[in-house]
Amino acid sequence: MDFLDEIDSRPSLSIAHIHRDKNMTYGTLKAHSNALAVYLINSFKTDSSPIIVLGEKESLMLVCFLASVKSGHPYIPVDVSMTEKRLESIISNSGAKVVIKTCEKNINDFTGTIIEKIDLERIIIEFNGRIPDINYRVKAEDVFYIIYTSGSTGTPKGVQITKGNLQSFIRWGRSILKGENKIFMNQAPFSFDLSVMDTYLSLTTGSILFSIDKDMISNMPELFQYFNKSGITTWVSTPSFAAMCLQSPSFNNNLLPNLKEMFFCGEVLTKKTAAKLFERFPEIKIINFYGPTEAAVAVTAVEVTEEMMIEEGDLPVGYVKEDCKLKIEESSGEILIIGESVAKGYLNNETETNKHFFIENINGKSVRGYRTGDKGYLKDGLLYYKGRLDFQVKVHGYRIELEDIEYNIRKIPYISNAVILPVIKNDELQYLQSFISLQENYSVEIIEIKEELKKILPEYMIPRKIKIIEKFPMNTNGKIDRKSFMEEL
Ligand code: AMP
Repeated sequence: MDFLDEIDSRPSLSIAHIHRDKNMTYGTLKAHSNALAVYLINSFKTDSSPIIVLGEKESLMLVCFLASVKSGHPYIPVDVSMTEKRLESIISNSGAKVVIKTCEKNINDFTGTIIEKIDLERIIIEFNGRIPDINYRVKAEDVFYIIYTSGSTGTPKGVQITKGNLQSFIRWGRSILKGENKIFMNQAPFSFDLSVMDTYLSLTTGSILFSIDKDMISNMPELFQYFNKSGITTWVSTPSFAAMCLQSPSFNNNLLPNLKEMFFCGEVLTKKTAAKLFERFPEIKIINFYGPTEAAVAVTAVEVTEEMMIEEGDLPVGYVKEDCKLKIEESSGEILIIGESVAKGYLNNETETNKHFFIENINGKSVRGYRTGDKGYLKDGLLYYKGRLDFQVKVHGYRIELEDIEYNIRKIPYISNAVILPVIKNDELQYLQSFISLQENYSVEIIEIKEELKKILPEYMIPRKIKIIEKFPMNTNGKIDRKSFMEEL
């Protein structure tokens, strides 16, 4: 069965989504997404350009996602925290003609249609009971969603995930999940592909998606009160988020008595974090997933066993799903992913697409492949992750190209050059440090630079420490000598 039909066929009174004190049933999700889809079909008949859905964790976000694909448009989830500048660049790169807002946020200079939250509510009432023509629905090879990730040239890249890619992830994810009617914890913003794991595994199994938002995360006592009432059975987050929760001794199985499994992806799951989790939740099943946005969330997974915990070295990141193949490039150790999960490339960005994606002929069939930029090796069929080949880092689960920050800092008129470096302690990235030089005879306070950066970069990309230096050391190739900076950290 098409997974969209599967979502629609869940008992209409069952709860699909909870955010704070509000919840939405499967019946409402179906009716509202159908109503909005009919409106979108009527209003933008001949058009299949992507629709930007801007908001945070409101149930309406899910309504908009499903309405978009039911009306033949891929959706682009954009978090409310996105800066205006980056939103502009997403709008211009994607060619989106419609932005739907489930939150209050101003968008300037957009010539397309903006559907405000209040309009959205009106449309849903007006078109209530209408059913969209199924022929408009996105098909297996059509793009289902586009997620923008940090790009080394300073502009985000839009990863195009087809319905087939997502279908394949759901099938595999459900075989690992086993069972239905769970309660999933959704930590990642909808604009981060980790959220696809909890959202679609939850919706296709008739489970409840329990969303937490940024304000809740920045207020631990409040967050834990919500956790306490949640009944969460299935945890999906970055390892960093779990490590943050573990700092509080009350994060244990008294707080989450129904918790059965924890799914991690997006960054290294250290043995230290895993060990603490086993201590606090003695019955817990921990699954380590690995994969980039470009291969639809994840392509390998493994349950962390006691044996793995006592073996030397890092935890493995998993066995590859059956419709994909991994290759390790001999010269560089780079992990290549080939198969059903690989995205259609970056939207309107041929240069980057050609650089990272390729086609492989398997038994006379053209199959897409992706060069991950990750280093790794295989042992007894298990993949081990060994870091990056480039300047991509993860800060609290957020994927960042250091060159993206550098490029944007250099755009500030009084800054002549900038280098960003990760500060690593005990094998873990602690924060980003920036070294900058100013235009001649210019002086400025660090706080001012940070204020300037807040206008162009999302909060998580702003280096915690900034140091102004006179001159950049160069290496023999005439490039900035990053190594000598590393020694200074
Ligand atoms: P994203 O596209 O944001 O999901 O980030 C993908 C990148 O996160 C991968 O290319 C890896 O560098 C890193 N990553 C994902 N899963 C893991 C994992 N289990 N262990 C280590 N790194 C991971």
